[in-house]
Amino acid sequence: MIIEDPEFGEVIVRKNALVSGIKFTVSMSGRLQMSVPKYTREALARRFLEHNRELIREKLPLRDPSAQRARDAKKKLLRKKAKEYLPYRLEYFAKLYGYSYDKMRLSHAGTRWGSCSSSRTISLNIGLMQVPEVLRDYVILHELAHLNHMDHSPAFWAEVGSHDPRYKAHRSKLKQFSPAV
Ligand SMILES: [Zn+2]
Repeated sequence: MIIEDPEFGEVIVRKNALVSGIKFTVSMSGRLQMSVPKYTREALARRFLEHNRELIREKLPLRDPSAQRARDAKKKLLRKKAKEYLPYRLEYFAKLYGYSYDKMRLSHAGTRWGSCSSSRTISLNIGLMQVPEVLRDYVILHELAHLNHMDHSPAFWAEVGSHDPRYKAHRSKLKQFSPAV
């Protein structure tokens, strides 16, 4: 569960059957994280947060909350843009080159621009909305080619190259950008 807090930004709430009290920690990404007993409702979690606000502010090495809030807002906007664009772009290329995938999902975490699973689900990183269109298209064509080749074999690259003849340049250019939002 995620709580939106005006001061701390997104607060991660972890429900844990083994926890009897509430514990506040800092997540890997510098966000506030709460561990609460399994059946804690959101309203109660918010109340705990309110009661401990002062203490959290003083004791926890949170990343600058205003920077955190700005990042959260940016992520939200990127996700919105991605949702309005990537599924259609993927569909466009799939139709154009005769691919069929099962599902498309948006991702945001981690170091990958995209992935293609053996169950034919294609994931595209919302960070793609921040790179030039040719590079975005390269990633989409790359993942589509994985529907036929689940590896990076010469046959795979030949297929990518048949749709994007400049894929080598696009691939190396993409390394100048980071998929982390
Ligand atoms: Zn690949």
